[in-house]
Amino acid sequence: MPEKFDVIVVGAGPAGTACALTCARAGLDVLLIERGEYPGSKNVMGGVLYRKQMEDLIPEFWKEAPLERPVIEQRFWVMDKESVASFGYKGLEWGVEPYNNFTVLRAKFDQWFAGKAVEAGALLINETVVTECLVENGKVIGVRTDRPNGEVLADVVVLADGVNSLLSKQLGFHKEFRPDEVALTVMEVINLSKDKINERFNLEDNQGCTIEIFGDSTKGNLGTAFLYTNKDSLNIGVGTTLSSMIKAKLKPYELLDYLKNHPMVKPLLAGGESAEYLAHLIPEGGYHSVPRVAGNGVVVVGDAAQLVNAIHREGSNMAMHSGLLAGESIIEAKNRGNFSESTLNIYRDKLHDSFIIKDLEKYKDAAHTFESYPQYFKEYLPMMNQAMSTFFTVDGTPKREKQKQIIKSVTAEKGRLRVLQDIYRAWKAVK
Ligand SMILES: Cc1cc2nc3c(=O)[nH]c(=O)nc-3n(C[C@H](O)[C@H](O)[C@H](O)COP(=O)(O)OP(=O)(O)OC[C@H]3O[C@@H](n4cnc5c(N)ncnc54)[C@H](O)[C@@H]3O)c2cc1C
Repeated sequence: MPEKFDVIVVGAGPAGTACALTCARAGLDVLLIERGEYPGSKNVMGGVLYRKQMEDLIPEFWKEAPLERPVIEQRFWVMDKESVASFGYKGLEWGVEPYNNFTVLRAKFDQWFAGKAVEAGALLINETVVTECLVENGKVIGVRTDRPNGEVLADVVVLADGVNSLLSKQLGFHKEFRPDEVALTVMEVINLSKDKINERFNLEDNQGCTIEIFGDSTKGNLGTAFLYTNKDSLNIGVGTTLSSMIKAKLKPYELLDYLKNHPMVKPLLAGGESAEYLAHLIPEGGYHSVPRVAGNGVVVVGDAAQLVNAIHREGSNMAMHSGLLAGESIIEAKNRGNFSESTLNIYRDKLHDSFIIKDLEKYKDAAHTFESYPQYFKEYLPMMNQAMSTFFTVDGTPKREKQKQIIKSVTAEKGRLRVLQDIYRAWKAVK
């Protein structure tokens, strides 16, 4: 007879570990199964970890977690061929407790975080792939792994197996992605001395900076690039929806090369040495792509449930919070001795009451709008750079005249009515 646990969690990323930790703390028997050599060994992230959702799980985690730098500055660049229009915020209050967010390297962070679930009593097994869920009379009763005699049973199985989630596909929770529902992102970790990072990004030790880059970074396609500072390395990456990649015949590694050699970026990387090259999908379908998240004996959390807010680059925090909510719901189900879908729907309801579904709902039409109307990325972003160049170039033209020139050039190219329609449509998508 296979061994039985209260809960089996598949995947020790932020979502799975948060759920395992929550359940183990309540005294449940938890098995956390990870296919990687150790948690984080296979995981990819631009690197911004949000304080709030992590603190809900481990108060004052920053005192012991392997973090890179607290982020004190967030910059946004609209990039054209030889320019950037830049805006952002830098605040020293983000550099002191309780902080706002941090850069992290997932290989270190996930390992530490999973260790916390183990300390709370969860059993972690690495280098083990869950190949399928075991289903009996319409209820998930456990999992099969790639180990000899690798069947394990549980009252509840938590699918925290990330964006591809073959297991939720097996259960029919979601289908294959459409190419506009996922972004393909490539990134590189570039080693650079702490002093050079501080000098180039105007930082001191233990201060970090993030730059989100739009426009020419994706050659005008729907997507973004990023450049984040770690202690003594930089994370640089770029991604677009798979549909944009296909349509524009983009090759992800060529996009990254293009970005690294862009005149606005290259000096920031100069002298750095490439340490790691990674590629990963991000679920970006948003609200409309969130599948069913609870069934008989099973719940789905994190990227496996498509819980990513691409506009605000929030994924790891949604993963953690969904893991926490799933954990609380499983504890309630245990108290009731009932693991049916209707009981586990407590998790679905908590998710809908939380910032996660509320935020996804707010932006539910954004991805579709920007995908369907490419002029926002292809035409308006370069126009913004052109307008700023015109406005800030001192050439004796009166400022009111410059304003008129800018408005005229935009409306002459596109027509006043179309510009107004485009503004209204964009506002509706993000309001
Ligand atoms: C390039 C990039 C940049 C990003 N930047 C940010 C950012 O700056 N901030 C942010 O908040 N989010 C960011 N995200 C999103 C964030 O990484 C994810 O939302 C988050 O990692 C989701 O966590 P998760 O636990 O659901 O899934 P994952 O982190 O993908 O973890 C899934 C785990 O399951 C394991 N697994 C999978 N299948 C199996 C199986 N069959 N058996 C056993 N184990 C299995 C995997 O090895 C992995 O450890 C970024 C994503 C990418 C790709």
